[in-house]
Amino acid sequence: MKFVDSHIHLCDVAYKKYYDMIFQLINNSNIECFCMSENLETSVETILLRQRCLGNPDMIHSFVGIHPQFARQKSDYEVFEDFFGSHSKLITGIGEIGLDPTYFDLHGCSYMNTQKWIFEQMLNLAEKNNKPISIHSRRSVDQILEILPSFRIKRAVFHWYDGSKKNLRKINDHGFFASFGPYLLYNIDKQNLFKECNPSFVLLETDGPVSYKNCFQDVFTTPSLIITLVYFISTLLRISFEEATRMIVANSSRFISY
Ligand SMILES: [Zn+2]
Repeated sequence: MKFVDSHIHLCDVAYKKYYDMIFQLINNSNIECFCMSENLETSVETILLRQRCLGNPDMIHSFVGIHPQFARQKSDYEVFEDFFGSHSKLITGIGEIGLDPTYFDLHGCSYMNTQKWIFEQMLNLAEKNNKPISIHSRRSVDQILEILPSFRIKRAVFHWYDGSKKNLRKINDHGFFASFGPYLLYNIDKQNLFKECNPSFVLLETDGPVSYKNCFQDVFTTPSLIITLVYFISTLLRISFEEATRMIVANSSRFISY
């Protein structure tokens, strides 16, 4: 049996001292991880992570990119583009990228214009290199849905989807995925949103090291949470655990395959 965590930040400092345990868990429980980056530094580290998974480097899929929080200077993109060009073969996808109006710089100013410019450069790269993208869309789903169709992007996931049901239908109509996390277990609104998503376009994620409340009591998030999540969505969809497992693996491989 195989599982997929389609959005996790394994390069986060919170994981570093537990790498031996995490990589053992990934190998033993057979959980493929789509590893996200936030800037150039974590993009480099995300690529190096594959080498840590000595037994089976295919368990780690490297997504590189500039997260909206760090999309502050256009000059950062030029260095990123060089890095991307020289490592393209080791890169599965581009993420975490997107727009987020809740970020402000040290002077309290929004930098949405730079965010938008960098996001569009990332979409250009994805289009040119035919790479899937993982999108951060907090309070920006409408704007992203306006921008995306002008690029020939075939595979995209709206990670931690938290928009309207109407936009979720638009996302599915475009053939794009929405990803849901462990909060589904205790949040009824999110369960109702999940039920609106076309099951063929559902992905699951931990977004670790983010921790979760309620039944999870802020426990340290590892990729193993995905197994709990697969079981829970099988109850929401009234299918067996095995069927849910197969569905998520099939959806995830459609998302990253060419
Ligand atoms: Zn994330």
